[in-house]
Amino acid sequence: PKVMVVYGTRPEAIKVAPVIKALEADPNLEPIVVVTAQHREMLDQVNQVFEIEPDVDLNLMAHGQTLNSIAGSVISKIDEVLAEHEPDAVVVQGDTTTVMGAAIAAFNREIPVVHLEAGLRSGDINSPFPEEANRKIVSQIARVHLAPTMVSRSNLLADGVPEENIHVIGNTVIDALQWAVERPVEFSLPELRALESDDRRVLLVTTHRRENLGDNMVNIGKAMRHLATNYPDLLIIWPAHKNPKVRASIAPQIEDLDNVISIEPVEYGEFSHLINASDIVLTDSGGIQEEAPSLGKPVLVLRENTERPEAVDAGTVKLIGTATEKIIAEVSQLLDDSKAYRDMANAVNPYGDGHSAGRSVDVLNELLGGR
Ligand code: UDP
Repeated sequence: PKVMVVYGTRPEAIKVAPVIKALEADPNLEPIVVVTAQHREMLDQVNQVFEIEPDVDLNLMAHGQTLNSIAGSVISKIDEVLAEHEPDAVVVQGDTTTVMGAAIAAFNREIPVVHLEAGLRSGDINSPFPEEANRKIVSQIARVHLAPTMVSRSNLLADGVPEENIHVIGNTVIDALQWAVERPVEFSLPELRALESDDRRVLLVTTHRRENLGDNMVNIGKAMRHLATNYPDLLIIWPAHKNPKVRASIAPQIEDLDNVISIEPVEYGEFSHLINASDIVLTDSGGIQEEAPSLGKPVLVLRENTERPEAVDAGTVKLIGTATEKIIAEVSQLLDDSKAYRDMANAVNPYGDGHSAGRSVDVLNELLGGR
């Protein structure tokens, strides 16, 4: 049986990579790798690390793309790819416009959709941002739901998904992370190579979410400036997202500071080691909320809600929003209060054991009668 895996952005690439590897190793299943390249460079970076060469590259990223222009081209282009390759199932991961569009295209051709990382819900039904709606749309049309945790399973059941179609397999991000952390890397940037002999504490910052563009991003930059100035023994590392709107809000506020290092997005193999070399993570990323806890790093999340409550409940992630004063207070507490730090760092990672990709392939074999 042929299994088509479709993805378009960096976080999807990281989470499908272990599944593609497991499919390649399975004698019964033939993977067909399709990238929409909704994001171009950051996606390519991940494919290179995992040595994945797409069979089809739609190269859809366009200057000034909108959600509707991406959705429209994903549906029509994936439709053509489905007609040509006739896969027996289509795997999509997460909640982007690529995922929603590819799932609709497969559904309309009566090809079973397998949703990896199914059942996440922020509960924010009024959100003007597409992720929550994309997740819910895919949950309505997927045939198989690969849920990372029991929380996501419950969300799916509450949405009326039949129990027999849900499989709790953990999150493949832990598979990817373990693979990456175990591989020795030498940082390509001299600033990062210098970390090993640097005694300063490291605050790793990443921001990119649509809901934080504008004022929130400016407030985050202000907090970074304040923290860097108040704690000369702190080193802030900021891999700047490729979105120019993110850069324009933060870069001008920190560029004159010696203890803030602004760098390009870091290749995944190196990024996992960078999390390891950090003391605190400040982020609005979904994936990093899952990765950093499993490396014992406290995560302060720059959002008001999260579709990933498990690590918040476990105590290793805290939702702090984006008010400048609040960010300063929360980071300062972790820097000044070693007990508060230890309590967060020592909490347990709720996202899996690193064997989720193998389970996803078992489910695919069950679905497609491969074994
Ligand atoms: N990441 C990376 N290099 C970086 C920043 C992040 O490889 O410079 C990885 C990170 O480890 C995580 C993923 O990218 O697995 C998160 O992507 P992003 O924050 O863009 O998206 P989200 O997780 O919020 O969907």
